[in-house]
Amino acid sequence: MEIRGTGIGQGVAVGPVVRMAAPLPEPVDRPSHLDPEREAERARASMSVVAAELADRGAKAGGAAQDVLEAQAMMAEDPSLIDEVTKLLATGKTAERAVYEAFAAYRDLLAGMGGYMGERAADLDDISQRVIAHLQKLPAPGVPNPGYPFVLVARDLAPADTAMLDLDQVLGLVTVDGGPTSHTAILAREKSIVAVVGATDAASLADGDIVVVDAANDLVIARPSDAQVADAEARIAERAAMEAAPVTPGALADGTPVPLLANLGSADAAAEAVRLGAEGVGLFRTEFLFLDANTAPSVREQQEHYTRLLTAFPGRKVVVRVLDAGADKPLSFLNDAPEDNPALGLRGIRALRHSEVILREQLTALAAADAATDAELWVMAPMVATVDETRYFTTLARELGIKVAGVMVETPSAALIADRILGACDFASIGTNDLTQYTMAADRLLGTVANLQDSWHPAVLRLIGEVGAAGAELGKPVGICGEAAADPLLAVVLVGLGATSLSMSPSALADVRASLARYTLGDAKAIAESALAADGAAEAKQAARRAAESAPTASGTTVS
Ligand code: PEP
Ligand code: MG
Repeated sequence: MEIRGTGIGQGVAVGPVVRMAAPLPEPVDRPSHLDPEREAERARASMSVVAAELADRGAKAGGAAQDVLEAQAMMAEDPSLIDEVTKLLATGKTAERAVYEAFAAYRDLLAGMGGYMGERAADLDDISQRVIAHLQKLPAPGVPNPGYPFVLVARDLAPADTAMLDLDQVLGLVTVDGGPTSHTAILAREKSIVAVVGATDAASLADGDIVVVDAANDLVIARPSDAQVADAEARIAERAAMEAAPVTPGALADGTPVPLLANLGSADAAAEAVRLGAEGVGLFRTEFLFLDANTAPSVREQQEHYTRLLTAFPGRKVVVRVLDAGADKPLSFLNDAPEDNPALGLRGIRALRHSEVILREQLTALAAADAATDAELWVMAPMVATVDETRYFTTLARELGIKVAGVMVETPSAALIADRILGACDFASIGTNDLTQYTMAADRLLGTVANLQDSWHPAVLRLIGEVGAAGAELGKPVGICGEAAADPLLAVVLVGLGATSLSMSPSALADVRASLARYTLGDAKAIAESALAADGAAEAKQAARRAAESAPTASGTTVS
């Protein structure tokens, strides 16, 4: 039986299913005869124990897991939740029931918001269960430990559990709920766990069922045939050999270099990116440094962080994006006016132009960090739609000492006039996440239109081709820094369309490196042509797959 979901990464795993224990039952809503004040104390104490446990798990896990778990620890002790619990206790509820209701109300509020916030709703359920378990002196619900390697099947895994998965025991992970931007997915990607999320029909799997978890093909095969198991095992061995192979610079089979760069949101992640073979940084998202700030960061504070980043990449290219505030990443000091359609509003370069002092300070800090280090700093502006914005940014950047200034191509308008945009700057980097959102008119945070949020769509590919052609014509670099670059086969298509470098989350580098090495530039162009000629995203992917399989120089298995 084949169960469809969303694969995270390109891995494959085979093993027996062990399901996550069923959650604690809903506490019964019966009147309490206990003193509400003492019950409130008990509830507060349990909330604070759970917060401390989550923070402690975060400290042990480190990395992105730590950020996620610390955010959860804060939720567990959120003052408005404590107030709500206290209010419910005053109406005569038990501590367990009051915790359950207060967290459930907050969970429903987040779920109603949809998108990124909606995907945080599951976090609330997990915290609530932990607090109730503590109140009842029961063990916290969590990952089973059967004593042999297994495929974990869960409704949705809490970040606390994902972060602490024992990777020697957990061969793969399948969740019934959760989308590609859920915390489970984010952490699975970071820990390179073979995972398929949102696999609705996985609820029917039983303990002991053998499954193949095929993330590359968005698939779980229940009770596979011998041939399917053999195929999966061959792919597992092939991936292990690939991971053990020495890290080489990104290149096509004919030697055409395609530098493989890292997308980073903090200098802290630089060392791991270098270990995984990043040849530089293709996108440093500076707004991630300031998401919690109420005031613009100081020049000194910024300079210190950028210097740390550049120091990690001596002699290498580091592309830093100036603040991309707005829509899914609002910064209170840049986006203070409510908008009905923030994705179409004063965001990116538009917001910076509106608050030019902030842009000037950031460029000043970047130029100072560049002067103090040996990396090759390139700086780019987000959400550029016009030649005028391009000229505005490059003129200001050069005035403030930036040597290489470019723009992101994230709007259809920038792609359609890429020749003129590139005429006014040093390089372009295509943000396929936003370019797809704006081309398909589909909010990238909205699950209901997620099927349209597919960079394989020929409309998106055609726009990318426009930018690639303009770059070739003018001899200017065209990088890709959206998620599309992390898809091994799409990466080949992007190079065929004219991309000169690819930037991605570091965990995707090995797969993309191996995929590029299978095809020549001629193959890549032919594969891209076949995708461009398709009617839709799924057809484009299929056509590319077929063209890749028959590419004359392809060696080894074709990636999906
Ligand atoms: C993009 O839009 O593709 C991109 C890389 O920028 P972000 O995802 O940060 O908006
Ligand atoms: Mg973007």
